[in-house]
Amino acid sequence: MAKVCRKVRQSLFTKLAVVMVVGVIGINVISYVLYRQQQRRADTTLNRSLVQYARSLADEIGTPPNRAIAAGIAKERMMRVTLTGPDSWVIGGNNRRFPAKYLKALSSEGGVEIANLHGYYRLSVALDPASTVIFDLYPSETERASLRKFGLISLVGSCILMLVVYLFIRFLLRPIGWLTDGAANLRDGNLDTRVAERGRGELRELSETFNQMAVRLETLVKGQRELLLGVSHELRTPLTRLKLRLAMLDDSVDTSAIQKDLDEMEAMTTSILETAKTHSEAEGIKPQLTDIGQLLLESAEGFQEQAPGVAMDIPKEPLVAKVDPEKMRMALNMLLDNAIKYSNADSASVELMLRRVDRAFVITVKDHGIGIPAESISRLFEPFYRVDASRTRATGGYGLGLHLCHATVKAHGATIEVESVVGEGTLFRLVFPCAD
Ligand code: ADP
Repeated sequence: MAKVCRKVRQSLFTKLAVVMVVGVIGINVISYVLYRQQQRRADTTLNRSLVQYARSLADEIGTPPNRAIAAGIAKERMMRVTLTGPDSWVIGGNNRRFPAKYLKALSSEGGVEIANLHGYYRLSVALDPASTVIFDLYPSETERASLRKFGLISLVGSCILMLVVYLFIRFLLRPIGWLTDGAANLRDGNLDTRVAERGRGELRELSETFNQMAVRLETLVKGQRELLLGVSHELRTPLTRLKLRLAMLDDSVDTSAIQKDLDEMEAMTTSILETAKTHSEAEGIKPQLTDIGQLLLESAEGFQEQAPGVAMDIPKEPLVAKVDPEKMRMALNMLLDNAIKYSNADSASVELMLRRVDRAFVITVKDHGIGIPAESISRLFEPFYRVDASRTRATGGYGLGLHLCHATVKAHGATIEVESVVGEGTLFRLVFPCAD
């Protein structure tokens, strides 16, 4: 929930919406202030007549004020008459609430004060220093109804306008969404990602530049891969020749160190070539109905002998799905091999779990080993990436296993996630969609 709130708060569209709401409110406030100023100016002429009217009303009531005449005026002209001072009374108004707090005297002339707002008028006439007679006039029902209608129409109109503008801006900024998805795809290693180049102006330019960058990146990476493959392939022949020549050397020369280095070089070139082969095969997988639980059992079997062993958690009812069993076995073996390799002999067993979740099945491989530092997690699936060189020597891999595993999982339309805490262990979660 907190994550969603943060995302909404940080979203460009939310910010735009806020700017628009603030803008619309600002425009309304400015229009209102200008309207009031204009109205005040217009009121100046009216106020002069009102002052005379107030005086004539006060004269009608007489001095001292006559309650009966005031009652007649209140009834006839639909107003409330209030006398303040030592002798005070209120007549008329049908108990309607007079919004007195909004009424500030706008003009004052010879003991007569006029205040008005939205059709409400207050005319105050000072009779003597101690008493004042106040005439409160209300807008008629029709006036009030038209004011309410006006308020409602402007509110609904503003909302509709804001919605239309917001949708329009969203529509205009669609390329930002495409670019975000495209960048995420590139990050996940899909180098053939391109985004739609639509519209005109800066966003189109940005999309074009993004695509040019993606093409360049793809060419660079493919070129690098091919170069590596070529070099590895070419190295095999001189390596074999070297090994042959070494074997023919005089027995009195100790060649064991050179032999070891040569073996390592050979293993490395073979590994690179095999990876390239599996990589291209992973892209063309051959799915067939497979009992996933059985597949997991068979994979785990190969590791049971190695400490700390594998603990299985597989549902009783068979889970059959369409996968390429050979590729899946290879990916699982890599994950289990790592889990065992990066655990200690006295760690708790590696846990291999299978679950069905809605229209997907989830495989988790969890170990209680050395863990992976947070800064390495985003790079784990890169070819030749190893967490640290000292691990390399001791465990003897080339950082290709997870890269291949990732390629295989992706070729199945599945996802792979990693969670890890240094010193506590690592969890790999593979989520495969079920095609049944
Ligand atoms: P390698 O052949 O070097 O094991 P991988 O591609 O399989 O290559 O793994 C890449 C790096 O990720 C490894 O060097 C290792 O440091 C780290 N790693 C992979 N799996 C685990 C794990 N279960 N626990 C800790 N570190 C791991």
